[in-house]
Amino acid sequence: MIPLVKPYIAPREQMMPEIEKILYSGYIAEGQAVYDFEDNLKRFIGNDDLLAVQSGTAALHIAFSLLDIGCGDEVISTAMTAEPTNTTIALTGAKVVWGDVDEHTGLLDPNSVRGKITEKTKAIVVVHYAGMVCDMDEFNKISQEYNIPIIEDAAHGLGCRYNGKIVGSNSRFTCYSFQAIKQLTTVDGGAISFNNPKDVVPARKLRWFGLDKKVSRLENDITRAGFKYGMNNVTATIGNVQLKNIQPILNRYIENGKFFDENLRDIPGITLIPYYDNTEPAYWLYTMKVEKREEFIRMMEGAGIMASTLHHRSDTHSVFSESKCELPALDKFYSEFVHIPCGWWVSDEDRERMVDIISRGW
Ligand SMILES: *Cc1c(COP(=O)(O)O)cnc(C)c1O
Repeated sequence: MIPLVKPYIAPREQMMPEIEKILYSGYIAEGQAVYDFEDNLKRFIGNDDLLAVQSGTAALHIAFSLLDIGCGDEVISTAMTAEPTNTTIALTGAKVVWGDVDEHTGLLDPNSVRGKITEKTKAIVVVHYAGMVCDMDEFNKISQEYNIPIIEDAAHGLGCRYNGKIVGSNSRFTCYSFQAIKQLTTVDGGAISFNNPKDVVPARKLRWFGLDKKVSRLENDITRAGFKYGMNNVTATIGNVQLKNIQPILNRYIENGKFFDENLRDIPGITLIPYYDNTEPAYWLYTMKVEKREEFIRMMEGAGIMASTLHHRSDTHSVFSESKCELPALDKFYSEFVHIPCGWWVSDEDRERMVDIISRGW
């Protein structure tokens, strides 16, 4: 079965000596390997203001905490995402307000968001779902017009681009995940990048109990309680090895995605997703709309290819019952979309076979 997601781990002979070295180095907590990982990522993303953290969830939680979001506040978000985007909002005590999606793309619709802004709105979260990039031209306008910060959840989006530049410097915060099934995995890990250097120091403190690691423990004074959200030298070492191979891995997702864009275009029963102006997807999963979805999924499974919706919409969870509202475009998109594999493990022959069986109908 060709799976929808699969962890990429660098070859044993590259990875194992480095893991062994760090494990027995006497220093496995946050140290030089973590700072090297941060430097490598800064270079890759093109933003010097970035911190490595324990997970994508930690990155999101730090962002909401830095904005002092709490009870009585509202955060506009999308239900078309993985759960942590929204459970982290709930953790702060703020109310999640669902924006509807654009029915053509499944991504948060800026027009819907405009209609949901109130004086309580403290932030807007946009999710580059499946590696597709949100309509950032419009979201940037909204952010300026209403002076509301944007958090980009780029957990699926490593390597996607906006205005030709790798996503990670446009908004106040961009959050990445290096969890097992993301394009880059450190087993578990994440990062948060900033467009305002002033956020780096307080974020670094929130990462480690509220302490400043650059000052000795005796001289430290915690003014605000923080989390234990740092990365450690072991996962950072894995990340440093992984990053050596990241470009060809990401390219493979993108090449396969473009191949499907080109070759599934005219097949009856399939509607491809249009990408917004000035955006280039990372194609973490290939996303499209299909007629007779159940039959499509069964047909693909019969041919040894996993096709699925992967995530469950977030608004159906009881924890968000207070946020319940009509989301007609999401209802429509949610009933039609499907993902097929397009990652590094999908070979030229695999993708040709996929197009071939899809073109025969279902
Ligand atoms: C994976 C994921 C996260 C959380 O990342 P973790 O590293 O697993 O904590 C956040 N948002 C989305 C959309 C994700 O898919």
